[in-house]
Order: sequence, then C-alpha cells, then structure tokens
Amino acid sequence: MTAPTLILPKRSHAIASDLRAVIGVDKVKDDYSTLTAYAVDASIYRMAPQAVVLVESEEDIVATVRYAVERGIPLTPRAAGTNLTGSAIGSGIILDVSRLNRILELNREERWARVQPGIVLAELNKQLGRHGLLFGPDPSSSDMCKLGGMLANNSSGPHTLRYGAVKDNVEALRVCLQSGEWLDARAYRLDDPVCADLLKSHRPLHDVRSLLQDHAAVIAQKRPTVSKNSCGYNLFGLADGLARGYFDLPKLFVGSEGTLGLFSEATIRLVEKPHATLTALIHFHRLEDVGEAVPTLLELSPSALEVMDANTLNLIGRVKHGIPAEAAATLLVELDADGAQTDRRAQAERMIEICRRYRLTSDPVIAFDPEQREQLWKARKALYPTLYRFDSRKKPINFVDDVVVPAERISELIRYLEGFFAGQRVPVAIFGHIGNGNAHIIPLLDVNDQDDFQKMVQGYHEIHQTVLGRFGGSICGEHGDGRVRAEYVKTMFGQELYDLFVRVKQSFDPSGVLNPGIKISDRPFTDHIDYERLSKPCATCAKCNAVCPVYDVFQSEDMSSRGWFEIVTDKHYSYLNSKRVVEACLNCKSCRTACPAGVDVSQLILDRRAEHPNKMAGAIFHFHAQSERFERFLKFLARYQPIWDRPVMRRVLDRLTKPFMRGLAETARLSPQLVLPRLARRHLRDRYPELIPEAKQRPRSPVAYFHGCAASYFDDGVGDAVIAVLRKHGVEPDLPPQRCSGTPIETYGHRALAKEGARVNLSSMAGYDKVVTGCASCTLMLKDYPTLFAGEPEQEAARVLAKRVTHISEFVSQSPVKPAMASPPPTKCKVAYHSSCHLRAAGVTKEPRAILAGLPGVEYVEMPDADRCAGGAGTYLVKDFDTSQRIVERKRLAVEQSGAAVVVTSCPACMIQLRTGLQGAAEVKHVAQLLQEAYDAADGS
Ligand SMILES: Cc1cc2nc3c(=O)[nH]c(=O)nc-3n(C[C@H](O)[C@H](O)[C@H](O)COP(=O)(O)OP(=O)(O)OC[C@H]3O[C@@H](n4cnc5c(N)ncnc54)[C@H](O)[C@@H]3O)c2cc1C
Ligand code: SF4
Ligand code: SF4
Repeated sequence: MTAPTLILPKRSHAIASDLRAVIGVDKVKDDYSTLTAYAVDASIYRMAPQAVVLVESEEDIVATVRYAVERGIPLTPRAAGTNLTGSAIGSGIILDVSRLNRILELNREERWARVQPGIVLAELNKQLGRHGLLFGPDPSSSDMCKLGGMLANNSSGPHTLRYGAVKDNVEALRVCLQSGEWLDARAYRLDDPVCADLLKSHRPLHDVRSLLQDHAAVIAQKRPTVSKNSCGYNLFGLADGLARGYFDLPKLFVGSEGTLGLFSEATIRLVEKPHATLTALIHFHRLEDVGEAVPTLLELSPSALEVMDANTLNLIGRVKHGIPAEAAATLLVELDADGAQTDRRAQAERMIEICRRYRLTSDPVIAFDPEQREQLWKARKALYPTLYRFDSRKKPINFVDDVVVPAERISELIRYLEGFFAGQRVPVAIFGHIGNGNAHIIPLLDVNDQDDFQKMVQGYHEIHQTVLGRFGGSICGEHGDGRVRAEYVKTMFGQELYDLFVRVKQSFDPSGVLNPGIKISDRPFTDHIDYERLSKPCATCAKCNAVCPVYDVFQSEDMSSRGWFEIVTDKHYSYLNSKRVVEACLNCKSCRTACPAGVDVSQLILDRRAEHPNKMAGAIFHFHAQSERFERFLKFLARYQPIWDRPVMRRVLDRLTKPFMRGLAETARLSPQLVLPRLARRHLRDRYPELIPEAKQRPRSPVAYFHGCAASYFDDGVGDAVIAVLRKHGVEPDLPPQRCSGTPIETYGHRALAKEGARVNLSSMAGYDKVVTGCASCTLMLKDYPTLFAGEPEQEAARVLAKRVTHISEFVSQSPVKPAMASPPPTKCKVAYHSSCHLRAAGVTKEPRAILAGLPGVEYVEMPDADRCAGGAGTYLVKDFDTSQRIVERKRLAVEQSGAAVVVTSCPACMIQLRTGLQGAAEVKHVAQLLQEAYDAADGS
C-alpha cells in the first residue's frame, strides 16, 4: 500500500489559526523559525510541517486529532525528535508532547509508575533513582529521548540484555484514537466483560482480534526468530497474549510509531536499581574470538554486552580513547551486583579469566566507580554523532543501521559487512548490542555524490536481503521502521503478513492521517532525504537540546540549540525572520561542551548577531570603554545605592528604565526582584594600588590577575579573595591595565568593539607566565581569543595567551605551595558546587570540586544538575528576567534537594543569578572566598 496522498491546503496560515482558536494562542506555532526547526529529527530526512502544536493536556490532543481527521491533514506525534528513521517529521501538523512531562503516580512497593510521554528518560530515571528504582530500557540517547518516542519505537539499548525492550516493560497506555476517543490499552483477560465491551465499542479492536484468529498460521510462520525486532506491527505479541487468554493491547501500540494512535500516558514497570555495577573494556586481537567469547560471557548474566569493530575504533580515534592499535574489536561488558553481598571483584576475576582464553591486546580496563564507568560509556553513547567529525563531506548515514542476527553469528555478520564495505571502498562503523545480535551499521558517505548515492542504494538492498536470507534475521531491532525501512517491511514479512499490517493500519486510521509515510508505505527510502543538511556538520542528534536551558524551559524545538542550528544555517534565514529565536540564546556554551560532533551553535548565533549589533548595547559598551568616565559614573551610583536600591525605588526604577531597556530587547527590564550586588565605592584597582604596574613597566610578577569587570566594580569580596589566595600561595600578582574580556559585548553583536578591548588585553597580558582569572566568563573568553581573531594577525598572540589563562581553582590545584588551613570544626557545613557553564566550556570542572572537598569544615555534596546553566549568563537576567528565573528554578530545587547551606560557584555573574533565584535558600559564595576563609582561619586572623 502506498501512503495515502492527502489533499493538503496550500501552505497557508489557516491551519495554525484554526488550531489557535481551539487550543490557545501560545500552544500553536507556524512562523518560519518554528517550521524550520521542526523540519528535522535525527534522521537523514527533511519535511517541513504546516503547524506545530505544543499540547499541554489530553483535551489539546483530542482537539488536534479531531481537527486533523476532519480536514484530512497529516498528523505526526513527536517527543524529542531523536529517532533515526524520519518518523517525527511530517508535512501537516506536528503534535509535540514535550510539555506533558510529569510522573503522575509512583508505586514503590509494586514497582510501577504512571508517566506522561514528554519526560526525558534521564530525568525519569533520576527521579525514580531517588526511590531506588529504574526504567530498564535504555537507548544510548537517554539524555535526550523521551518516553513517548521510546514507546512508539519500542526502543531498547545496551541493557536490553537484562531488562528487555520497552514492549516488555509497559503495563498500560492511554491512547487517543483517530476517532478522538480514549482507549485504556492494557492486557485484558479475554473473558473479562470489559474486554467484550471494548470489542463492541471499538471497531478497530474487533477487527484486529478477528484478524489474529483468522490468520494465526501466517503470523506464527513469519514470526522473527531473533531476540529483538521492531519491524512491522507486533501481531506476534498479540498472538502470544491470545494464547495466554489475554488481549494484550500494549503489544500492538508499543512500536506503532504514531501510526495507530497517540499516547498521553503510560503505566510502566520498574526494576530495582542495581546495588552496584562494574564496567569493563576488553580489547581483542581477533574479531572471531569476540564471537566465541560472547556465549561464555553471557553465562555471567551481564546486564550489557556491547561491541565496537576495528573501523569504529579507528574512526572515533584510538589514541584519544586509549585503544590499542592492534585491537580488532573492543567489548564493553557490564555486570550488576543486586545485593550488598555480591562480590564485584570476584565477578570481575571470572570475566577476566574467560577473556584470557583469547588473545587480548592489553589487560581489561575495569571501572567500579560511577564517574570512571561513565567515561567508558561516553564514547560508546555518542558514537554516531561523533562520526560527524571524521570528514567534512562524508557523513554517517543511517540506512541499514539496525539489523539483528542470531547472537552467535554476529562476528560472521561483521566479517561480511567489513568485506562488503571494503568492496565499495566505503568507511563504515559497526557497533552494537552483541549479546542480542543487534548491529548498528553506519557507513560514511557523501550522498550528494552520485557514486556514493548509488552505493547507498546498493547497500540498502544487498545488506537487508543478506540479513534476511543468509542470517534469518530482522532489518530492525530497536530504531523503528520510519521512512527508512518502510520500503522493506513487505520483503521482511512477505505479502500476506504485510497485507495484515495494512488492514490493521486501515482499521485504526481509515483516513490515513496518523503519521503517513511511516512503517506502512512503499515509497522509496530515498524520498525526502535532506541533501543540504547532509553537507552540514550537525548530526541533529539533539544532545545539545538536553543541556540547553532555553529548551528546558520552553520545550519547543524552535527554542532549542538544535533548532537554532537549523534556523541560522537555513538558506532562507534572515535576522528579521528569526530575530525572536536568535536573541533568545543565553550564550551559555553548554551546547558546545555537549556536542559530540564539534559544532558550536552558540558561536553561529554570535556570528548572526554580529550582523545586527544592538544599538543601545553599543552605546552602553562605548561608554564602558571610556574607563575613567564610566568608573566615575559607577562610583556615583555606588554612593547613592542605599537610596535607589530600596524596594520602592527599585519599582520606580524598573518603570522609568523600561523604555530605555526595550532598546536592548523586548523582554529587557531591571526587575525589582533582581538582587543587585553592592557597587564598590573604591574599585578593586583603587584598593590595591601596590599591585598596579607603572605604565610601560615590564611585568614585576610572573602572574597577572585578570579581574574583569565584576570583581572590580562590585563590592562582593571576590577580587579581594583571589588576591588573598594568590598571596597565600606565595604570589604577589600584577594587576595590569585591562578592558572587559568581551563576553557581554560580543553577546550583543559588537564584535569589533570586543576585539578592540581584546587587543588591549593581549598587549597588557603579554609577558606573564600565568594570567589568573576568577570569573568563568573571562576565563573562557580569554581562552577563546584565538577564535575571535581567527585568521587575523593577532591570532598567534591570542594562542599564547590562551595557554596561560588559569582559573584561580586551577592555579590552587597546580600550586606546589600548600598553605595551612584551620583544623576542622566539630560540625561541618554542607556545601554544593554550581559549575558555571563558561568554566565548564573552558574545561575546568574537577578542580573547584576537589578544592571544596578538601576544605576543613566543609561537607561537600554533589547537587543534582550541578552542571546545568543557572540562567544568569552575564546580562541575560536583565535581557529576559522572566525566562532567567524559570531557568534558575531547576537550580533552586536542586539546592533544596542537596540540603546544602552554601552554594559555591566560580563566577561572579552566576553569583548574582543564584542570589536572586535561590531566594535565600542557601548562601552563595565564590570558591576563592571559601579558600580565603580556610586560610585566614588557620592564621586566626
Ligand atoms: C545518538 C543516538 C543514539 C541512539 N541510540 C539508540 C539506542 O541505543 N536504542 C534505540 O532504541 N534508539 C536509539 N536512538 C534512536 C532514538 O533516540 C530512540 O528511538 C528514541 O526512543 C526516540 O525517542 P524520541 O523522544 O526522540 O522520539 P521521537 O523521535 O520524537 O519520535 C519517535 C516516534 O515516536 C512517535 N511518538 C512520539 N511521541 C508519541 C506519542 N505521545 N504518541 C504516539 N507516538 C509518539 C513519533 O511519531 C515517532 O514515530 C538513538 C538516537 C540517537 C540520535
Ligand atoms: S549541534 Fe551537536 S549536539 Fe546539537 S544536534 Fe548538532 S551534532 Fe547534535
Ligand atoms: S549557548 Fe546555551 S542557550 Fe545558547 S544554544 Fe547553546 S545551550 Fe542553548
């Protein structure tokens, strides 16, 4: 059956305006930016929708379904859009469930939960983890994928070996059918009167039940014999249910890819979180040995057993990941300890003993500690997007990415594939869940090249045919059929069973509006390939969305890092058609830190802003650049702060400054709730004249302190603390002349002005061995000067400076001097660390934590979400105060959960935001201040 061709109205705003009238203005979007952002998921395809609905209730879902059915408009449900098959894009309405993201009910004793479909898997497991529970199926995309997509794809992952796929872990679903009615899909006993009523009231259920009875033989005959399958509709699961006396409805809907109905919630089964786990990396000389070792390793009941072939190891970089050059394949094994009694070391010994029977290239690397284990998994989980770094033209293309063969034949499959791709002269990464025989095959191709395109088409048919014919396997283990495998579903199951699938689809979706083109379609897999995107560096994996604070708040792809990449690199982009979104980025750089493909979305956005510098900000920064006049003005403000900083005056100030603030942004304001730091009456440089070198004087100290603006102008104790700490480490720093590092200036599009200041800094900081910073943003900006001056004469000097920039926490960690600290008090103070985004982007994460953990009197607690943006981002809390407060809310809850009395950070800007957002829930300090207190206490001073 060809996907029905629906008659669509010409692209117009009619759909969105109709839906707005029914659902509400804020929940329906159809502007250029939104449609561009929603035109992609993590697949190779592109299809722009006509409208996007961000549903917030079941009523919204019903209203959208009814509207789409009445008008014959394709309707595509969507969660995180991380599927690799093109199943979350469509030409009509996208119904995004991301805002339905709560756990509605949790039963600890019976280990189940009722959960909405928009919750991110990692978030779900974080919340369940507090109760010692876990949702077992774990796609490698767990940081970003959401329950709705997992249910609809029957996802699974490395731990399927132990916990099964989603279909094995779902008790019930609430499904909105095409009729707009709700179905409580659970396993009903066939003799239950409720089941009889359902069959009467829902014609499609009656049809499916009859179809199962009438065609039991063909269903049994065509049942896949491998351990995993997500191809076609799961009539096999339904048939099993019938044999047990049940009409097991979740089996039909899980894996149906939004083609039969939409889920508003699921009751999922949970498992106990393992007591402890060990992870091992084992490098083999010969691929065949891996195949032989697997059955024996399976006797240890591993919870995960993953393989990466030699090509994959080459592509991700052996040196970078410490993988021996001779390794033909690497196994990643995980063993869980369920009780305190399980001896993990004994388990590890048994595993090593098994592996030693084979030729290993080195001793297995075994990690018990969660952080080390995380490191071992990191490369594996980000494998696919990491492959984007390999070549600027040849991209990892998912078109035969998910085959399953009998587990004992996996090395035979890998050999076959390596031979096939060697014949084609195509680099390929082969990795996957070896314990289940599920291989992910990712060739690197330039689909814009005719030759490579032909190779892709040839590979698609030959490999799938071989997996079916020679191996008796499945073409789809866990990623779903989507657009990419729909063409082959018929070949996999044969015409007779395929016709049954068509009948199921027609029964549930007679008008063909539910995700047309997905699963049941004979369109060639090459339709709708996004050739343009596949020449760009972004894998559209959405890993950046998982850390983007704006996406966290809005849950809408047009307000997300991945979406912004799409928008600002789109050929129809203009600042005017996308100003709303381009100006919404905080420039927190979290996306850059997270991106496995090496894309810096924040930089792209800065580039776009540089084309339209903000005039008002320009006037302020020009004034700022005239240091003397600007500082005189600040001192004047400091003198009268006790008057203008009173609550009543702040409200007046907010009102008076509004028109002026609008010049910065529509949303900009000086909110009275913003806890402003005390302005210094004597700036840092006035307080330490002895540290200021004479003009043109050579450096007097090997160390310069780049204090930046905040530590100089605010009376917040940070600058004094940095100097005091340096002195304790035997360093009398210089305070050379300096200008703003440039972060806020560049954020408002004034790159030329940022460079002007940067030139001053390059010149005055030259000649020092170390340039110490206390501010996260200054640290990153100084380290980023080589990018600011890319291709310009200053770039070399910028490189030299970048190497010398050292955050005070790094300085202390590296210092050979260990100043005395006070002896620990009888009661310790709970201290948590908020890891500033810019310091994380600069690669400084461990040092501040290690310092805090080593302070007497401090009980260091790692708070949840320590690595998430707090929403301050320099001036963002002025530019968009309301959004910044929505962002910091997560941080406030995290601090509350941690029980910390003090939150420490490494950035004065974060300090302002935390003081505003935490509303007194904890004291806020800089890491240098805690150090200074510890050193001073030892002196008794
Ligand atoms: C780097 C990377 C690694 C990955 N690793 C794995 C892996 O190990 N295992 C694996 O199985 N997959 C993996 N995937 C694929 C993908 O992440 C999973 O399939 C994931 O479960 C999809 O979830 P999502 O929230 O992104 O869904 P989406 O992509 O938004 O949607 C997927 C499907 O679900 C449907 N859908 C979404 N919500 C609903 C709803 N409420 N009602 C009905 N239908 C709905 C959509 O229409 C679509 O058909 C990976 C992807 C990437 C990018
Ligand atoms: S920018 Fe990076 S992390 Fe974000 S979607 Fe693209 S490849 Fe993935
Ligand atoms: S810089 Fe921050 S706000 Fe901007 S896209 Fe990246 S993660 Fe999102």
